[in-house]
Amino acid sequence: MGSRPYRRRLAWSAAALLVAGVAVPATAAASGPDDTSDAPSLSAAHGTKQKAKNVILLIGDGMGDSEITLARDYTVGAAGRLNMDKFPMTGSYTTYSVDKNGKPDYVTDSAASGTGWATGQKTVNGRISKTPGTDKPMTTILELAQRNGLATGSVTTAELTDATPAVLASHATDRSCAGPADMKACPNDTIAKGGPGSIAEQSVNHKVDVLLGGGKARFDQKITEGRYKGLTVTEQAQKLGYQLVTDDKALKNARAGKPVLGLFAPGNVPVEWTGKAAAQGGTEPQRCVTGNPERKAGTPSLDEQTRKALQLLEAKQSGKGKKPGFFLQVEGASIDKRDHAADPCGQIGETAALDRAVKVARAYAAKHPDTLVVTTADHGHTSQIVPLEATPPGLSSTLVTNEGQQLKVNYSTNTPGQAQEHTGTQVRIAAQGPQAHRVLGVTDQTQLFGTIRTALSLR
Ligand SMILES: [Zn+2]
Repeated sequence: MGSRPYRRRLAWSAAALLVAGVAVPATAAASGPDDTSDAPSLSAAHGTKQKAKNVILLIGDGMGDSEITLARDYTVGAAGRLNMDKFPMTGSYTTYSVDKNGKPDYVTDSAASGTGWATGQKTVNGRISKTPGTDKPMTTILELAQRNGLATGSVTTAELTDATPAVLASHATDRSCAGPADMKACPNDTIAKGGPGSIAEQSVNHKVDVLLGGGKARFDQKITEGRYKGLTVTEQAQKLGYQLVTDDKALKNARAGKPVLGLFAPGNVPVEWTGKAAAQGGTEPQRCVTGNPERKAGTPSLDEQTRKALQLLEAKQSGKGKKPGFFLQVEGASIDKRDHAADPCGQIGETAALDRAVKVARAYAAKHPDTLVVTTADHGHTSQIVPLEATPPGLSSTLVTNEGQQLKVNYSTNTPGQAQEHTGTQVRIAAQGPQAHRVLGVTDQTQLFGTIRTALSLR
C-alpha cells in the first residue's frame, strides 16, 4: 500500500469521525492487546480507547454486495446512495463456518455465521451458539451485555426463534429446535434431560428486555416438561413479567419498566413488496408492487420496531442503579428468504426496509455519538445483476427501476425448482462511532464479537 492513498483515507476517516461528533485524540493511543488491526497508527487516529455506551447491530440476512447493489439500483438509482452506504468506515469480512473437526466449511448458514459474530467462535452449520465438536454452550455478546448490566434487545422480520435472534439468547444443538414441540434434533437440550429447552423458552428465560418479530405460533406451543409444564411459552413469558404485544398500536403503548415481547405474525412477518418470481428464460419487464395483501394492517414495519426498541432500551437504562447503555440487534431476515425463492421484488423490498431501520439507527447515533452502529450481513446469496442481452441458465427477471431503466437479475446457485443457495463470498461490514475503525480491511465475522465487546468494555 502506497503512503499517499493511505494518508488520504486516514485524513478522510478522521474528518468523518469529527462530523459524527466523536472526539479524535490528538496523541496516539496504544493499541490494546485485543486490537487485531495491523495498522496501529490508523487505529490510534481513530481512538482505540474510545468507548461506546450503546451498540446497534443491523444484520441483513443474506445481504451480499449484489443484494445491496440491486436495492440501490432499483430504489435510489445507480448513482444514488442508500443509508447503509453512508457509514464512514467500510470493510469486508469472511463468513465461512467449520465442520465438527474445526476445518473450514466454505458456505455458512445463518446459525453458524450468527454464532461466529455472537460468540467470537465458529461452529458447524445449523448450530446455535454451541461448539462444533463437543456441542457445549458458548457465551454470547448479549449474555455478556446482560451480565454487565446493560439493557438488551433483538428485533427481526423472521420468527423470533430464527437463527439470527436465536444465536444471541439461546444455545441449541440445531436451529430447528424453535419451540417445545420442535425438539427432535436437540435431544440433549430438552428440559427433561436437564437442558435449557427450546429456543423460544430460552429467549424469554433470558429476560431480553425487548424481543420483537414474528413466530407467534412457536410461542403458543405448549410446554410439556419442567416448571412451566402445561403453559404456552407466551404464557411463560407473561409469568416472567413480559408485556405481550401483537400489533403496532399495542407496541406504541408498551411501557419501559417491564420487558416487551412483540409477536406480529404466526410465522415470519410477511414481506413488504411483491412481484413476479424470476423464471427460466426471464420475465417480462416488471415494476415491483410496493404492498403485500398478506401483510395485515397493524403490522409494524422494521423501522417502527427499531424506533420503539431504542425508546424502550433508552428508558430502561436510565433506571435507578442501572449501568447506562444497551445492545440492540436488528435483523432484516427475509432478504435471504426471498433470495432463496428467486423473488427479486420481495428481496429488494426487504433490503429497503432494513435500510430504513439503518436510517433510524444513524439518526439515534447522531443525537447519541457514544453509539457504535454496525451494518453487515451473515453470508452472501444468489442474486446477480447481469447484462440485459445475457441469456443465463437458471431463473431470471427483468425489472424496471425507479429511474426508468431495465435491470436483469439472475438466480443460478441451484437447479430451477429448488431453493437457491447461500454463497461463500466475503460480505460488507460498515460502521460508525467508537471502535468503528475495527471493521476496516478484511476481517472475519468472529472479530465483530471482539469489536462490540471492546466498544462496550464488557467483562
Ligand atoms: Zn438462507
